[in-house]
Amino acid sequence: MMLAFIKDFFRYKKDIKRQDKWIGKYISKKGYDINPNKMISTNLKIWLSEMEGIYGKRLCPCFDPSGGKENDKAMLCPCKYIDDEIEEYGTCHCALFGKKDLSKEQWAASGKRLMTEYRVPLNLKGNVLDTRGMPIDKRRGMPIPDASHQLKNALLKFSGEHLQMVVATEQETLNLEKIAKYKGFGYKARHQDDAYIVELKVK
Ligand code: SF4
Repeated sequence: MMLAFIKDFFRYKKDIKRQDKWIGKYISKKGYDINPNKMISTNLKIWLSEMEGIYGKRLCPCFDPSGGKENDKAMLCPCKYIDDEIEEYGTCHCALFGKKDLSKEQWAASGKRLMTEYRVPLNLKGNVLDTRGMPIDKRRGMPIPDASHQLKNALLKFSGEHLQMVVATEQETLNLEKIAKYKGFGYKARHQDDAYIVELKVK
C-alpha cells in the first residue's frame, strides 16, 4: 500500500501542487480546513487528479459519475453537498475538507467513518466480482462503495490476469471502460439477463 502511495505521489507530483493552489484559496474563502493527515489529504489530491485524467473533470474522488448532467455537475469538487456534510459530520464525505476548529480526534473519526463505508467485504469469488447491492448514499443516491472503488479494493488482493465484474447499470460499464483505458487494462462488456458483465484484463 505504501509503495503504491509513493509511486502515485511521484506520478502526480505536479498535479498535487495544482490541487493545492485551488484548495488553499477555497479553504481561506470558506473558513474551512484541509485534513491534517498528510497521507489522507495527499491521497485525495492524487485521486482528484486521477478523476480528471479519467473523466476530464475534477469529480469527487469517492463516487463514480452517474451520467446524469445535473448530478455530475453537483459532484464537481468542491461538491454541492460539502456545507451540509461539514455541518453533519464536521468534514465533507471524503474527509478532505472540514471545520476549522476540528480536533485531531474528530478528523480521525471522519476518516474512520469513510473507511468503514469503503472497506466492506467484497463479493469476490474466484475471478468474479459482483458489485451489486451496496448501500446507497443518502444525499447522492449512489452506491458506496461503487463499482470502481470495489475494483480498486479487489486489485489489492486479486493476483489473476482476468477479472470479471458484474455491474447493475450501463453507466457503470461506461465508467469502467474509461478507467480501463486510463489504466491500460483490456476491456469488454456485455449485457446478460438483468446485469452487465465487464471483462477486464488487468495484467
Ligand atoms: S465530498 Fe469532499 S472531496 Fe468529495 S467532492 Fe465533495 S468536497 Fe470534494
